[in-house]
Amino acid sequence: MAETMIKVENVHRRFRNVQAVGGLSFSCAANSVVGFIGANGAGKTTTMRMMVTLDNPDHGLIEMAGYDTLAHPREVRNLVGWMPDHYGAYPNMDVLDYMDFFARAYHLRGTKRRARIDEVMDFTELNRLAERPCQTLSKGEKQRLCLGRTLLSDPKVLILDEPAAGLDPKARLEFKNLVRQLKQMGKTLFISSHILSELGEMCDSLLFIDAGRLVHHGDADSLTNGSVEGLVLRILTKGAPEKLQQFIEQHEQMAVRENLPKGASVNFVIEDGGNVEDSLHELLQTLLAHGIEVYDFHREPKRLEDAFVDMLTIKKN
Ligand code: ATP
Repeated sequence: MAETMIKVENVHRRFRNVQAVGGLSFSCAANSVVGFIGANGAGKTTTMRMMVTLDNPDHGLIEMAGYDTLAHPREVRNLVGWMPDHYGAYPNMDVLDYMDFFARAYHLRGTKRRARIDEVMDFTELNRLAERPCQTLSKGEKQRLCLGRTLLSDPKVLILDEPAAGLDPKARLEFKNLVRQLKQMGKTLFISSHILSELGEMCDSLLFIDAGRLVHHGDADSLTNGSVEGLVLRILTKGAPEKLQQFIEQHEQMAVRENLPKGASVNFVIEDGGNVEDSLHELLQTLLAHGIEVYDFHREPKRLEDAFVDMLTIKKN
């Protein structure tokens, strides 16, 4: 079994009357890329700050590579690189000065410091920006600088808060490539976002939180293939669509997403423990047995965003 790199167990964190995190538990394998997804205010930053020892849980346990963040904060800090969702302004620094400043803060000395800065600037393609004042960088360049700063200490685990926020498609692609390369280097990456499509393709698994609690942990496929919150089916009939619509109303596993001129697009939830193929085969047989003249029975891929919203709706009902 894969080694566990991140373990979060029944973690709570309250700020006065706001329960930011309320009993959150999950674990992440070493050398995996994990997306941490939730709406604004869901508790992502609060959780990540506790993972990197900038804040403490009121209750519960967080371990990084087996080190308890409360008992062994120093070991955790040596393991983990933290990229916050905004980086401080350093108006009088150029890119190289900025990197040098942080390399010193990481206690890198002499030729070792210079070599590490070169290596990271090469990897993040900051070389050509070396003499640019930090405040003149574009959003994407600033994100690369922030990632570069995080990589200086060569952390095993990277905790990145909204790193792709506001990036244009090209910068997002470059970021995705960096993530891929970092994974190949053996790192574990934990990346937050409130935009699912930013993370779906680059992550081995996705953690969804809502109001400080875990609502789902799986890969992107487990969401879009409907095993969690239902499939989307497009059913067209030769006869009157009302017959199909009546059938849907009478079956609680089904709900209309959209009525179509010759049928409907529907959500179909598979019963607990049910198998997708068997359930679909049975549904088609039942439709035909009810005299519904189905001529098109088609499973539609779900957009990740839709799948997530559906899942939240189902969990709340
Ligand atoms: P976003 O996507 O907007 O960054 P998030 O998922 O990162 O949101 P958090 O920043 O963790 O959410 O906030 C979770 C909840 O805790 C919010 O209601 C927030 O207002 C509250 N909160 C966070 N930090 C504090 C604090 N220091 N004092 C009071 N409330 C806080």
